[in-house]
Amino acid sequence: MNTGTDDLAARWAQIRRRVDDACREAGRAPAEVTILPVSKTFGPPLIRAAVALGLHRFGENKVQEIREKSAALADDGIDWVMIGHLQTNKARDVARLASEVQSLDRLELAAALHRQLQHAGRAIDVLVQVKTSSEPSKSGLPPAQLPSFLDALREYDTLRVHGLMTLATHSTEAAEVRGCFRLLRALRDQAVAQGHTLPRLSMGMSDDFPLAIAEGATEVRIGSAIFGARA
Ligand SMILES: *Cc1c(COP(=O)(O)O)cnc(C)c1O
Repeated sequence: MNTGTDDLAARWAQIRRRVDDACREAGRAPAEVTILPVSKTFGPPLIRAAVALGLHRFGENKVQEIREKSAALADDGIDWVMIGHLQTNKARDVARLASEVQSLDRLELAAALHRQLQHAGRAIDVLVQVKTSSEPSKSGLPPAQLPSFLDALREYDTLRVHGLMTLATHSTEAAEVRGCFRLLRALRDQAVAQGHTLPRLSMGMSDDFPLAIAEGATEVRIGSAIFGARA
């Protein structure tokens, strides 16, 4: 796949079709699943082409990229969604520039974001990233800590907690990948039973989104299947 703008429209239409098919296969309505285009590593021209297709929300995994792209695309009405590991000392930029953080995984970060958001006079949507995979390289809150973490977040009124996010194990074993998604949904269901409101489950990427949709994803984060292979 190339990374030009030419077949962006075709790839976007194709991924929407594949997501819709996965929904129907899972007995779900396509309207239940949102696609978050992940534009990490791709530059303003391609993102502008995506905006021209009607996309206005993009996932990024580095604060530096959000900083550069939000400056270059300031007039395009884009909502930047932070999906990557976030250092506490970058909370200020995120509080200024992002509309949403899906990678909230520790209290220290919640406190830093809250402080900066209070300064900025804003509130943002957040998802709690949970580590459902045993891979050491993956970040996220350990599942056992989720109940107390969600209780502690009630203190921060600038953080509107809407759900959970995870990355599945990178594996060709569908059962293993699916197990990660199933765990996230089970954790959500437990938290809801304890009184939390968590309608959103962000899970699934280009290679595993049908399994995530089968397990209840409300949002899939798609990069390479839309924008092409990353360098
Ligand atoms: C890069 C990335 C994605 C998208 O990955 P693709 O395989 O390109 O679809 C999704 N979620 C996170 C957290 C990412 O960093």
